[in-house]
Amino acid sequence: MVLFITILVTAILMEGVAWAMHKYIMHGIFWNLHEDHHVRDNHDSFFERNDSFFVFFAIISITAFLLWSIFDWQISLGIGIGVFVYGVVYFIIHDLFIHQRIKIWRKTKNPYLLGIRRAHKMHHKHLGKHDGECFGMLWVPMKYYKGNY
Ligand SMILES: [Zn+2]
Ligand SMILES: [Zn+2]
Ligand SMILES: [Zn+2]
Repeated sequence: MVLFITILVTAILMEGVAWAMHKYIMHGIFWNLHEDHHVRDNHDSFFERNDSFFVFFAIISITAFLLWSIFDWQISLGIGIGVFVYGVVYFIIHDLFIHQRIKIWRKTKNPYLLGIRRAHKMHHKHLGKHDGECFGMLWVPMKYYKGNY
């Protein structure tokens, strides 16, 4: 039960962490790593410098698994799984569904998924470092369910 709750809480908190990271770090001191995600039509390699952030969260997840294997901390295992699960969901929604990096899933009628996509497309309307909206991913403000863009 402790494990399950830790996984759930970690995954939920990760949305906040991802939001803050995106708003203050990626659009802040590490803008040079995130920039190519906002001007993505200008390069032809599959990978983006922006993918470094996946590596960063993978290291956190792996470290949590290591701590669990050494000290047998259930909470550490839960954090490792929670960060991993959030990363996988983020990748599927952001990279596969929204940005079509691998074209396997484009169509949906699910209002929640359409809202996510609308909100993130608004984020991409801003090409610069300093202005922006919708830095989160899975939490979608109500107004994006109603828009027609
Ligand atoms: Zn951004
Ligand atoms: Zn790109
Ligand atoms: Zn994006």
